[in-house]
Amino acid sequence: MSDRGSGSPAVSVQRLVKRYGERIAVDDVTFEVAHGETVALLGPNGAGKSTTVEILEGYRRRDAGTVRVLGTDPAGGGLDWKARIGVVLQSTGDAGSARAREQLAHFAAFYPAPRDVDEVLDAVGLASAARQPVRALSGGQRRRLDVALGIIGRPELLFLDEPTTGFDPEARHRFWGLIRRLKREGTTILLTTHDLDEAAALSDRAAVIAGGRLVDVGPADRIGSAGARIPLVRWRDARGVHEQRTKDPGRLVASLVATGGEPDALEVVRPSLEEVYLDLLRSHRSREEQPA
Ligand code: ADP
Repeated sequence: MSDRGSGSPAVSVQRLVKRYGERIAVDDVTFEVAHGETVALLGPNGAGKSTTVEILEGYRRRDAGTVRVLGTDPAGGGLDWKARIGVVLQSTGDAGSARAREQLAHFAAFYPAPRDVDEVLDAVGLASAARQPVRALSGGQRRRLDVALGIIGRPELLFLDEPTTGFDPEARHRFWGLIRRLKREGTTILLTTHDLDEAAALSDRAAVIAGGRLVDVGPADRIGSAGARIPLVRWRDARGVHEQRTKDPGRLVASLVATGGEPDALEVVRPSLEEVYLDLLRSHRSREEQPA
C-alpha cells in the first residue's frame, strides 16, 4: 500500500545512531527524502553512508533514533515492504551461466507488479545483449544489469550505490538519462556517489556526511558556505589571462565591456559541487579539531 498521499516523506531519519563497539559510525543524523525526490548522499570513505543506507534498507539494526521508509520501520519491514524497494548495491552479484534476459525474468517473477522485462532491458541499453550469458557481459553492461535488477520490481524507492563506477562517459550519460526517466515516473531515489558531477546532475538535494555527522543538506547549488560559492570571472587580454572572484560578476563583466569591448575567452565560472563539497569537508574537519 502506498503512503504517498499521506503527506509523510518517503524516507524519514530522526536522530539516527549506530555504533560498532566503541566506534560511532552514525552520530545523530536527521534528514528526510520526499516522495519523488532524488537525494545524493555524499561523504568521504568511512563517513557512515553505507551504514545509514543499510539501516534504511533493513540490512542493519540501529542503536537509537527513528527511521521510517515508505511509512515502515525497516527493522520490521516484511516482504510487502521489500517489494516496494529497489536496491542496486556496489558489488555485482555472482555472474552465473544464466543469460541476461533470463536472470531479469527470474527476478521479475518475485514481484507483484514487475515492469516488462524487455522494456527494462531496452531502458538500460541491454536489449542487444539480452541473450548473452551474464558472465560474458562487459563491466559496464553488468552494472546496467544490476540497475535493471534493481528496477524490475517497479520500486517506489530506489537505493543506488555508486551506480556508474567504471562507466565510460557515454554510458554514464546514458545511465543518467535512465535515472531521470525513473524520476519522471515518480521514483524516489537515494543515490550514494563519489562522483560530484553525477550528484549535481541528478539530485534535487545533496546530504553531506562526514565522521558520522550530517554536515549539510540542501539543493546542490545552495549547500556550502557563501564564501565557497563566489563566482570567478576569467578573461584574456594582451597582457594575458586574468581571474577575479566577485559576488557580482555581472558588474565586473559590464565594466570590462565598457572599457575595452567584450574581452576574449570571457567566462563566469560558478564553483562546482565538488569545490563546495571539499570546502565543506575542510571546514568540518577544522571545527572537529578545535578544542571543545
Ligand atoms: P562509508 O559508507 O561512508 O564509507 P561506512 O558506513 O562503511 O562508511 O563506515 C562508517 C564507519 O563504521 C567506518 O569507521 C567503518 O570503519 C565502520 N564500520 C563499518 N562497518 C563496520 C562493521 N561491520 N564493523 C565495524 N566497523 C564498521
